[in-house]
Amino acid sequence: MQTIDSYNFENKKALIRVDFNVPLNDKFEITDDTRMRAALPTIRKVLAGGGAVVLMSHLGRPKNGPEDKYSLRHIRQHLADLLGVPVKFAEDCVGEAAEEAAAALKPGEVLLLENLRFHKEEEKGDEAFAGQLAKLGDVWINDAFGTAHRAHASTAVIAKFFPDDKLFGYVMQGELTSVDRVMRSPERPFTAIMGGSKVSSKIDIIMNLLDKVDNLILGGGMVYTFKKALGGHIGNSICEDDKMELALNILKIAKEKGVNLLLGGEVVAANAFSQEADTQVVDAMNVPDGWQGLDIAPSTQEEFARVIEVSKTILWNGPVGVFEIPKFAEGSKAVAEAIARATAKGAFSLIGGGDSVAAINQFGLADKVSYVSTGGGALLEYIEGKELPGIKAIRG
Ligand code: AMP
Repeated sequence: MQTIDSYNFENKKALIRVDFNVPLNDKFEITDDTRMRAALPTIRKVLAGGGAVVLMSHLGRPKNGPEDKYSLRHIRQHLADLLGVPVKFAEDCVGEAAEEAAAALKPGEVLLLENLRFHKEEEKGDEAFAGQLAKLGDVWINDAFGTAHRAHASTAVIAKFFPDDKLFGYVMQGELTSVDRVMRSPERPFTAIMGGSKVSSKIDIIMNLLDKVDNLILGGGMVYTFKKALGGHIGNSICEDDKMELALNILKIAKEKGVNLLLGGEVVAANAFSQEADTQVVDAMNVPDGWQGLDIAPSTQEEFARVIEVSKTILWNGPVGVFEIPKFAEGSKAVAEAIARATAKGAFSLIGGGDSVAAINQFGLADKVSYVSTGGGALLEYIEGKELPGIKAIRG
């Protein structure tokens, strides 16, 4: 299989699917350009190899065709500043305007196409639309991990037009190397920490992880469904009554597979869901009426940290408390710090899924862990063990 490092880009036009779905404020200023910066190495690699670059992306969720609010024109200048070369812009991602602009492109030049999702064919995975896009390049590079779980025209369907000229970009390569290291060949002990509000949204991941991990730490709101299923009194804590049987089944499977599953003991309970609430430390099996568990207590933080710190591979998805409220962020912070300490001792740690990424950034520890995934939904589906269309399109 060709890779971005082995491919000869000389005089080639590389059509790169990037993820420039960046947040913009009401003045159309980019408030977080992380995704744009992430794509720079791939773009620079093509340019340095003597090729030209055609960039395609989506931005936001336009409903009915073109809408100025979602135009990629708003990010053109910032991209040019980041790259240090001018960036041309095509008013449409397909058709005459795009084809003429792509045809005129010389080695070393960069063209940005208008939002792919201005055409409903993109999300439908329309083959004719993918064919129109394919006309704009000699080689297709997929560097948008965030949309790898979608079988859209530009992320997957387009692959058939480039049977021998399809590559992962560096963002994709980095994500896949990191996730595969954790999910396929983890050094042991392997510990996964799963948090978040609901067990229902994490079932498939938990089931897949039970086949792979040595330790499974569960935290956050989902724990109360387990505690109640075990006969606990959880007060007003969040609970999915219809998932209690499933929770008991997860505990049974963990036992059968020899997985050390930790639910924690004491939690911080509050009499309201707010920073001003009164709090007390209680056993999660015995939360008083009118109180709800919103974070793990210091004793549970220590219990989790002891396991995390001696692990060699760590996966963290989902906060173990309501970290958005400072009063209930201590548990997630303790987890993040334990992961950072383990990483310093040589463990490989992968943080992924929207809220845990926000949490690790909030604690200023993103550069103290091995890898912070940009994936979100794509990462979760990959961890669930699903085959992602954007990856299959290239790996086959
Ligand atoms: P998820 O999107 O399922 O990963 O859930 C993330 C959300 O779970 C965050 O917004 C947290 O505030 C929330 N969360 C974590 N712990 C709790 C808890 N004990 N009770 C209620 N919500 C929680």
